[in-house]
Amino acid sequence: MQILSRQFIYPKRASGPLFRRRGIVAAFLLGLLAVSPFLRFKGEQLVLLNVLERKFVFFGLIFTPQDFYLAAFAMLLFILFVVLFTLRFGRLWCGWACPQTIFMEMVFRRIEYWIEGDAAAQKKLDSQSWNRVKFSKKAAKHVLFFAVSFLIANIFLAYVIGSDQLLKILSEPMHVHISGFAAVVLFTSVFYFVFSYLRETVCTVICPYGRLQNVLLDKDSLVVAYNSARGEPRAKHQKSLPDMPAGDCVDCSLCVQVCPTGIDIRKGTQLECINCTACIDVCNTVMLKTKKAPDLIGFYNARFLETGKAKPQLLKQYGYATVVVAGLILFGSMLYQRQPVDATILRASGTLYQVRPDGSVSNLYTATLINKTNRKIPIRLLVAAGYRIQYIQKKELLIDKEATTNFSFFLIRDKKWASTSYKTDVSFSIHTNGRLVGTASTKFFSPIE
Ligand code: SF4
Ligand code: SF4
Repeated sequence: MQILSRQFIYPKRASGPLFRRRGIVAAFLLGLLAVSPFLRFKGEQLVLLNVLERKFVFFGLIFTPQDFYLAAFAMLLFILFVVLFTLRFGRLWCGWACPQTIFMEMVFRRIEYWIEGDAAAQKKLDSQSWNRVKFSKKAAKHVLFFAVSFLIANIFLAYVIGSDQLLKILSEPMHVHISGFAAVVLFTSVFYFVFSYLRETVCTVICPYGRLQNVLLDKDSLVVAYNSARGEPRAKHQKSLPDMPAGDCVDCSLCVQVCPTGIDIRKGTQLECINCTACIDVCNTVMLKTKKAPDLIGFYNARFLETGKAKPQLLKQYGYATVVVAGLILFGSMLYQRQPVDATILRASGTLYQVRPDGSVSNLYTATLINKTNRKIPIRLLVAAGYRIQYIQKKELLIDKEATTNFSFFLIRDKKWASTSYKTDVSFSIHTNGRLVGTASTKFFSPIE
């Protein structure tokens, strides 16, 4: 297995217009990732993914396990988006937006170049026996790697346990938060191991998305590809066969040297290609020097490379876009209809109906109300006409933020509303300060008149 027989790759430092654009995208995404857990919206962390307490917050909306259907739908929508995006744009996500690539290529790799130099200097340093220079460079690099891993672990934890809790763990004595510190150390070690040892094997061996490229790509997907019709026969072959017409590839191998996954894109589309575009940049500098047209390596689809013609894909593109937009609209409407108070009203177990001396009929219920907002709210339970509520313990119904309250009550139906049915559906509405915040329904049992 590739991970066990680890052979480190020494990619040459990338540069060029696409690399600069990737740098801008990476800076923006890194900033967003680092700042989001510390931003507040409607009193809540902007994004919180607290799997331990099963609480999730997105832009002020609090999601609890009762909203599982929304999470399932969002997950399906996300998978659909990834499939359609990949069908159209190939593995663009991997090279430009995936946190693994951004941290590896834009943070850790830069530290490595800064301390150890470019690929040739790194190789030379690794082949040397240990001396003072090698030791100090390696020590400096790994100390910095560990420090950045510590930062990433803290950002990651800020999303999971919340930034307030994280700051508490970091500012209070260690013995008060043993498990918190253990989590920080564990995640720091994991990130350090990933970025100092596993590196590109995460993309080429471990990541399931990478392994799925075979089934996700079709002939019209845009991928980073070598235009072999234009590039071949390359320089090496031209020397051995001088009468053959010359291709544009001068066989400088720079595209292989800059590749962070160590592949030769001239051999065709490969699972290991993360579409980082480093080979496009470097090949374009060669094309410029040799006075040939750019994009010998570029964004192409297989159909264009085979036939030399690009087939308009408008129907497909609009089709994909329509599916995604329809899914988003549906999800938006589900979010809009989501109720801030989740209510479950069940008949008390082991009880039937009671006929009261005045002829009215009552059923005993227990109610569970979950306040999914981040403020304490007063609750008023209203029931359909013909019924009234009699609480077992008269109390003011106030639910703390993100809290659950349970209470019991009798539901009474007056004699004049008698039903011919043994079982009747009853619906409730839950109000706070006159605003509808939830609904519930249950069954009411009564003797048949
Ligand atoms: S960088 Fe361009 S010219 Fe050089 S080997 Fe690669 S494809 Fe050929
Ligand atoms: S082949 Fe090119 S685009 Fe693909 S990973 Fe290597 S350098 Fe990046």
